Amino acid sequence: MTGTPRHRAARLWRGGGLAMRIAAMSLLLLLVVQLAGFAVVRSSIDANARESLNHELTVGARLWEQLIDQRAQKLTQGAALLAADYGFLSSLNDRDVDTVRSALDNAGERIGAGLTALLDRELQPRAVGEHADPKAMAAVLRLSRQLITTRSMLTIVDQRPYQLVMVPVRAAGMSGWVVMGFALDQALLDKMRELSGLQVALLTRAPGQAATLAMSTLPEALARQATWPSSGSGEARIGSDEYLAHAVLHAPELQALLLRSVTEAVAPYRQLQALLAGITALGLALFAVGSQAAARRVTEPLRRLAGASERLGQGDYSEALPDTGRRDEIGELARAFDQMRSNISAGQAEIRALAYTDRLTGMPNQASFRAAVQAAIEQVEGRAGQSLSVLMLDLDRFKHVNDMLGYASGDTLLNAVAQRLTEETVRDGDMVARLGGDEFALLLRGADADQALAVARRIARSFERPLALGDQMVDLSAGIGIACWPTHARDADALLSRAEVAMYGAKRRSDGALVYDPAVDAASAQTLSLLSDLRHAVEHDELRLYLQPQVSLGDNHLSGAEALLRWQHPRNGMIPPLQFIPFAEQTGFVRQLTLWVAEASAKAWAPLHALGLQRLSINLSMRDLMDAELPATLEAILTRHGVPTRAFCLEITESAIMDDPGRARATLDSLAQRGFQLAIDDFGTGYSSLAYLRQLPVNELKIDKSFVMGMDHNEGDVTIVRSTIDLAHNLGLTVVAEGVENGGVLARLRELGCDEMQGYLVSRPQPVAEFSAWAARCVKRRDGRLSIDPALRLH
Ligand code: C2E
Ligand code: CA
Ligand code: CA
Repeated sequence: MTGTPRHRAARLWRGGGLAMRIAAMSLLLLLVVQLAGFAVVRSSIDANARESLNHELTVGARLWEQLIDQRAQKLTQGAALLAADYGFLSSLNDRDVDTVRSALDNAGERIGAGLTALLDRELQPRAVGEHADPKAMAAVLRLSRQLITTRSMLTIVDQRPYQLVMVPVRAAGMSGWVVMGFALDQALLDKMRELSGLQVALLTRAPGQAATLAMSTLPEALARQATWPSSGSGEARIGSDEYLAHAVLHAPELQALLLRSVTEAVAPYRQLQALLAGITALGLALFAVGSQAAARRVTEPLRRLAGASERLGQGDYSEALPDTGRRDEIGELARAFDQMRSNISAGQAEIRALAYTDRLTGMPNQASFRAAVQAAIEQVEGRAGQSLSVLMLDLDRFKHVNDMLGYASGDTLLNAVAQRLTEETVRDGDMVARLGGDEFALLLRGADADQALAVARRIARSFERPLALGDQMVDLSAGIGIACWPTHARDADALLSRAEVAMYGAKRRSDGALVYDPAVDAASAQTLSLLSDLRHAVEHDELRLYLQPQVSLGDNHLSGAEALLRWQHPRNGMIPPLQFIPFAEQTGFVRQLTLWVAEASAKAWAPLHALGLQRLSINLSMRDLMDAELPATLEAILTRHGVPTRAFCLEITESAIMDDPGRARATLDSLAQRGFQLAIDDFGTGYSSLAYLRQLPVNELKIDKSFVMGMDHNEGDVTIVRSTIDLAHNLGLTVVAEGVENGGVLARLRELGCDEMQGYLVSRPQPVAEFSAWAARCVKRRDGRLSIDPALRLH
């Protein structure tokens, strides 16, 4: 894998992300389930424990009461024994208080009663045991009336818990009661604890006061910190443990609390739970590892695929994906992916091949030619006396072959050219390439300008053999431009562009081959500044409209005029159209010029029409014909000036139409529909057949002046003009001859039946005002129409 460490980490995280998320999700679910289970178990353990503790405590309370009862019986028996003792009774009969007291003491000592007393029937003390504390005794005496009914009771006496019993005594001397009080001792509580396993605490509660501990089975230190339930049973907290407490109320101020530790009771379960938690944690850990591993099994191949796709993204198709060996969806995905990789790789190889070869001819294409030139330059760079040349070639009239004979013939022609070029460059290391369309290029290693020119001449010679395309013979010719390294350029791109400049120069001059000339290039740089000058010209009123008359030969009427453009340049004077129109055509600016001419012509129309003029002709360029908006725009201009469309004739050269016949046709149809008249200009210079022109909605044909001017001395020209006039008439077209400079030519034209003429013989193009004056001055009115002197003299 490539990339910076940060990227790699990000990728890892992304790659691990899926595995991690799957694992984390399942882990989370498991955790939630486990926690819920844990909570339920815990709360039910708690509830169960409390319930069984409560039960234990209830049983314990019963046991406690039994214990107290048993003890009361034992004590009562002890007291009854004394009450029935003969010695004791006789001492009562003798009213011998001392003996009675010692008997009380003896009996008390025997059965462990700290308080002993003999009461008479009125419950007044007759004798009190010697050990008895007087204060305690007083308290016991206060309780004696109650004891008559209960006979035994557990109560607080002088702040200590006591069990009191009372039995009747009947002697001859007196009858009364023996009362005995036993301090409750730790042994009883310990016994209770031993029997029941419960903790026991005896609490005393003075009315309105917090409970105080009298004694308990709890360790001292713990018992002292205990918080007791506020009243009766409930929960107590002793030390860190929680206890359930069950109260047995013996007297309003004495309470026995039976206690059982909840903490202790649930401790075994807690241990179990801890074990369970441990197992769960272990399970979770195992699960985490397991699910991570399982997820990895899914994501690892995915990550490898991602890595592979990244390599693909960087254009590396070389490395095959290792077979995962898996039969599942992932394996399938990996195989599909690898299939895709190898398909793309094959496709890429094909594209690469296509990128560097020309499909039609199988020759290297522009890209590989450029690369070859660059490589060739690098190879000889820095070595003295080395040179190489690039020869660039553009076929003439190829477009027409394509248009007239079809694309298949065009392809055949290109292949034939390719073959002839290859035959001419036999030397090793030279290269022939097709740059596109009808452009070819040659790389000549070690050749200087002269040697390159020699090759160009050989090519021109080999082109002289006409080429048979079906039953048509086609002449081959081409413009060839030559640029040499290092004389004309120092790098490949400059060299190619210089060769191209030279090639265009050659084509312009119809001059077979041309070596690059920096001066020519500078001229083309000037054209750029020309464009801004032209803009300036339109905006600053430097354009002038000139008019040249057209005369109908039948009756010498002035039938119309052709609008021709001039540029009144502030520094260079009057510039003729051929110096800027071709350039304006190239840049598309000509459309603005056309609109300017249309506007100026429409403006000039009314007074001319008043003089008797029937028509104004203006020239359209190829760019105008490609503009689908043109018909509507022109019509709008005429409408604005109140000129009918039929007053305007639009002149179009053949080549303008042939450049893109389909689109030109659409524009022409639209113009004709709007009522404009249409004329074919410069007829005879192009390659269009009359058969084709017949399909166009034209009214007029203008024979090019190059044929007309030679008519008085060149019979060939006459023949051409004659056949053109005949053909045009057959097609129902009016014929205009332009370039009529002398009477001889005029006479021939009349003979041939030409309809109209235009030329210096009648008048040169003149500014609108002068044209009007000329027309008014030199032309006689007859039948309300302008007519010209029959001699058509030059004015
Ligand atoms: P064109 O349309 O063939 O115009 C006729 C050209 O022949 C004019 O040249 C005119 O002065 C010239 N001419 C007329 N009679 C004679 C003659 O007896 N002898 C000779 N030697 N020449 C004659 P101009 O005005 O220099 O125009 C040259 C070309 O410039 C025009 O050829 C036309 O193609 C183009 N052009 C002129 N004005 C415009 C325009 O407004 N728009 C467009 N698109 N092209 C224009
Ligand atoms: Ca014209
Ligand atoms: Ca013309």
